[in-house]
Amino acid sequence: MRILLQFPEGLKQKALEHAKELEKAGNEVFISASPTFGACDLALDEMRNIKADKLIHFGHAEFHRVDANVEYVPYFIDAPLTLLPGSLDHLKDFKVISILTTIQHIHQLDKVIRFYEEKGKRVVIGKPYGFAKHRGQILGCDIGSAASVDNEVDAHVYFGGGMFHPLGALLNTKKPFFVIEPFADKIERIDSFRETYRKRSNGKKVRALSSKNFGILVSTKNGQHNINFAKIIKQKVEQQGLNAEILVANTFDFTSLNNMMEFDAFVNTACPRISIDDIERTRAPLLGASELMEVLKMKGELKAANVNPDF
Ligand code: SF4
Repeated sequence: MRILLQFPEGLKQKALEHAKELEKAGNEVFISASPTFGACDLALDEMRNIKADKLIHFGHAEFHRVDANVEYVPYFIDAPLTLLPGSLDHLKDFKVISILTTIQHIHQLDKVIRFYEEKGKRVVIGKPYGFAKHRGQILGCDIGSAASVDNEVDAHVYFGGGMFHPLGALLNTKKPFFVIEPFADKIERIDSFRETYRKRSNGKKVRALSSKNFGILVSTKNGQHNINFAKIIKQKVEQQGLNAEILVANTFDFTSLNNMMEFDAFVNTACPRISIDDIERTRAPLLGASELMEVLKMKGELKAANVNPDF
């Protein structure tokens, strides 16, 4: 069988080992060297081009069904639970908590729940919206496990590595938010970031008020492609007498985007995190769809009041 292997960046170091194993079993093996951001980003073009019979995607659970022979191989990592006792002091004022984690640690969720319940907490575990596959699991773009229980809990506790995943959940909830990073040996309360990101979003919207030419980003990645939504956005912009064009790429390269000097604002329809995490990489404001709608509304109001937004 001809097989294409695909690994996210953190697992690319394992590529040779897996390739050799599959070759020994009699397969012809290729390895995708493209950057990989999630199961939303399957190497389907590469698979077609090399006529592979199967794509094996490591590190993520299925994102949504695709019409191709794809096997998902999630990677589970046992994180040390040694920080949990120390977290009790941070959580002493919160009786009801939610626990959130990523696919890498989802097998440890029950242990973490048991620990807090034995210490007298009531633990509520939320359901993801659908891209994530397990209760309590969050993705950068599926924070349902946090948002669905925000009204029921006193605080959220994320257990896992890095800030990418908890940040999305933080921005879509209102309760105190704690991050336990077992590998960094760190417990942190991160609520203050909500205000930081609110200010950043407002700054983008103000900058975009004087924009006339909008570039709408559409990714060709299987789980990020949203051409119909982009067309609706284009129409909305044009209805205000402004210009909009749809910009297509698989992975957006910010140098290339910045070379498109005619556009004075960009609107993201690809991975929702681009317009949150990457806004400092574009010379023009990089808006999410809801931010664009607010900008268009404000522009309409300024026009009606005969106020020039070019301040
Ligand atoms: S957050 Fe972005 S990169 Fe991650 S799974 Fe969602 S769409 Fe893909």
